[in-house]
This record gives sequence, structure tokens and C-alpha cells, in this order.
Amino acid sequence: MPNFSLPDEVFQQAAAQFPTPFHLYHEEGIRTRARTLNKAFSWCRDYQEYYAVKALPNPSILRILKEEGCGVDCSSETELMLAEALGFSGRDIMFSANAMPNEEFDHARRLNGFVNLDDISHIDILREHGGIPETVCCRYNPGGDFRIGTFVMGNPGEAKYGFTHDQLLEGLKKLRDLGAKRFGLHAFLSSNTIDNAYYPTLAGILFRTAVEMAEKTGLEIAFVNLSGGIGIPYHPDQEAPDVLRIGEEVRKVYHDIFGDCGPAIKTELGRWMTGPEGWLVTHATHHKDTYRHYIGLDACAANLMRPAMYGAYHHITVVGKRNAPLDHVYDVTGSLCENNDKFAIERPLPEISEGDLVLIHDSGAHGYSMGYNYNGRLRSAEILYQSDGTFRMIRRAETPRDYFATLDLDPCASQLGL
Ligand SMILES: *Cc1c(COP(=O)(O)O)cnc(C)c1O
Repeated sequence: MPNFSLPDEVFQQAAAQFPTPFHLYHEEGIRTRARTLNKAFSWCRDYQEYYAVKALPNPSILRILKEEGCGVDCSSETELMLAEALGFSGRDIMFSANAMPNEEFDHARRLNGFVNLDDISHIDILREHGGIPETVCCRYNPGGDFRIGTFVMGNPGEAKYGFTHDQLLEGLKKLRDLGAKRFGLHAFLSSNTIDNAYYPTLAGILFRTAVEMAEKTGLEIAFVNLSGGIGIPYHPDQEAPDVLRIGEEVRKVYHDIFGDCGPAIKTELGRWMTGPEGWLVTHATHHKDTYRHYIGLDACAANLMRPAMYGAYHHITVVGKRNAPLDHVYDVTGSLCENNDKFAIERPLPEISEGDLVLIHDSGAHGYSMGYNYNGRLRSAEILYQSDGTFRMIRRAETPRDYFATLDLDPCASQLGL
């Protein structure tokens, strides 16, 4: 069930103060989630959440999470810059590498953050770019099928990430010979998983692999990083994962393998932490009746790409019509010249009139941040509904000036009035 914790009046007040579309984020909801997560893992010495910056890269949000004791998981130079500017450093930064420019390792090392290597070839790159630290993390890809119980969740072997088992052993030996003393082990095997068994299953794989690697290399296990992937109930039929229970189940697995004293645990949740605490607030601006019934919004896939990109379900409600019967069936669309620019397809909804305030739920992670400028559409503002009940614009909407900022305007600058 999506998050219905904010009453319609809050969205009405916000829309009276700021032009739509915008993403609205709920500070108190985000704080509550951070506290719940910290509580779930409070049994573990040195537990820390590293919020995945890419999910919602806004400094005001990152500062809230910092106040709640979270670190940041960064995967690019600009995310590192944001982290640095907010005063994250050292053990509060996880840098998850991929096929990125090698110089980004230098930046992560300069901030003294943890580096999470994605591939055995990264060892030589890190050696040249910042040097091998005493504690280094490696991302593991066990290949094969990833099962929770008997259910196959996916095939990690098809994913581009991580070291194979043999590479992990070889890589850790090499890191040891280059001066590393301790290692972290990371894996991300299933995305947006609402099954409470995901983390405990993953933890079992990582704990056992870490023990094996420690025995074979003589390195100490510094931490196990369970990464992101805990999902949220986008659909009303889905139940939210129970993070307190998940923490307790991970504790049992930990206890079986390490007893009372073992490595630290890290997580890198993005979606679970902020996803349900964001809404894309829009107005219905058009309706059209042809072979189907269409509602056109003032937002489009440039503001929230997940439905267009993955066919992802985002729940939609109409302000003031929460309890109205769902007796109309609409395709809810944006303005892009792409037929996949639909927030919903053949969705039962209450009757929608032009001017209605329409909420697209669960936009608080991988929402704004996946935005783009196709069709010359501009990205929207981000508004924070603060704990004191007031609203604050934490990112303004783009203007045409932003859209043109990177162009060589030589041929037409004066005509554009810039
Ligand atoms: C995207 C990502 C996350 C966060 O994933 P969620 O699904 O938002 O929890 C965490 N760690 C890494 C390395 C990622 O790439």
C-alpha cells in the first residue's frame, strides 16, 4: 500500500504556494524511516546506512539524513562533490565504482571514503589513483540463480556488476599483497524487493563468503555491505517490507555465523528510505476521448521516468477524491512526443476534471533524479514539507536559460534574449 500519511490539505496548500508540477517530500517521514532503519540494526556494532545519493541527490535531503546519522553512497564525481560540500568525509562515504573515469578514485580517496571496487581490474587503477587503502571493499557477483527460498529472484550472472567468486579470491590476495589489511564485502542481487527474506538471504551469502575469503587470504573482515534493494509497495495490493523484522532476521543469520562478535554491517538503501515520502504534484490540464479516455497532466516522463522506462506502476490519486468510486478508466499522460509518456495505462480512477490536483505517489527515489530534457521539457521544482509544517523550495524549476546554458548560442543568442 502506498503512503497515505499526508492529508490532501497538505498538497492543496503546497499547490497554492508553488506552481505545479513539483515533487513534494515529507521531512518527518524521511526522518522516521531513518530512525526505524537505525533501530533495526542497532544490535550491530558500527552499523551504518549509506544513503544512495542517486535516488534523491538534493543537499537538503542529504543534510536531513546526515542529522539522522546516515552516510552517503556515491557513484560519480558530482555525487562526491555534493557529499564533500555537506561535510561528509572519511567513514561516512562509500564510493561504489563502475565503469567510471579513473580520476574519480582519486577524489574518493582524497575524502578518505571507503572504495567499493566493481572489478578485479580496478585494483591496478586504484593503485595508480589514490593508492590501496588498509580497508577496501569488493563487490561480489555470485552468478547463477539468486533464490529466496525456492523462488528464483533473478540471475546475477546477467548483471554487469561485481567480481566472480574466483576473481574475488584472487583480487583479495592481490590487495593483501599490496598492503590492504581488511576488506568489506558488498553485493546487490535484487532491486526493489518487498520480500522480507531478501536481506537475510543476501546476508547469509555474504557472511559465508566473507568467512571463506578471510580464511583463504588472512585478511580481516571489516564489514559486510548489504547494499540497496529493499523495495517499497508501489501497488496498493503490496505490503511494505517490515524493516524491524528484517533487521532481526539478519541478526539471527549473523549470530549463527559470527556469534556475538563479528564484522560491522552497512546498508545503502535509497528507494526504501525516501521513495514513499515523495509525490509528484500535478494538475490535470487536458482530457481527450478517442479510442480510449485520456487525461493530460502538466507533468511528463521528464519529471518521473519510471513508468515510461520500465512500465513501472505508480499509484495515482486525485486530491479531494480519495474515497470517490474508481468508475472511470483513463490513460494518464504527459506531453512528450513519445507514446510511452504515460503515468498510467487503462487505470481505474475517479472522474478527473481539468484543474484537478493529481498526485503521483512514490516519487521520492529515482524520480526527479532520472529526469531529462527531451522535447525541451524542463525539470520541475522540489519542495520540502518541513517538520514545522511549512514548505521550502529546495530546488527551483528549470527555466529556458538552464536549458540553453550548455549550448553554443553564437548563431542566435540575441534572438533568444539571453
Ligand atoms: C542504486 C544503488 C543503491 C540503492 O538502491 P535502492 O534500490 O534505491 O535501494 C545502493 N547501492 C548501489 C551500489 C547502487 O547502485
